[in-house]
Amino acid sequence: MGTCQSCGGPCLTYKGSVWQWTCQTCVRLAMDARAARADAKDQQNRERLVHSLKTHSSGRTTPKGGGSDSYVPHRPSAFAPNP
Ligand SMILES: [Zn+2]
Repeated sequence: MGTCQSCGGPCLTYKGSVWQWTCQTCVRLAMDARAARADAKDQQNRERLVHSLKTHSSGRTTPKGGGSDSYVPHRPSAFAPNP
């Protein structure tokens, strides 16, 4: 029986070189904190990815309606209907 290095409470088992004398509660808390941190990092990465995708797509040159001089739809039948 040892003492939890985190909370100072009783620790039943030695949990290896990583956790050493850490009670079950503190191990779980630490794991939860680690998972939460990983989630936050994931979220950040996702937001950065979405942001970069957005900036890339908006940076594209949009086709302007400047082709009116070169391209005129020729439909005489629609503009001058025969009686
Ligand atoms: Zn503890």
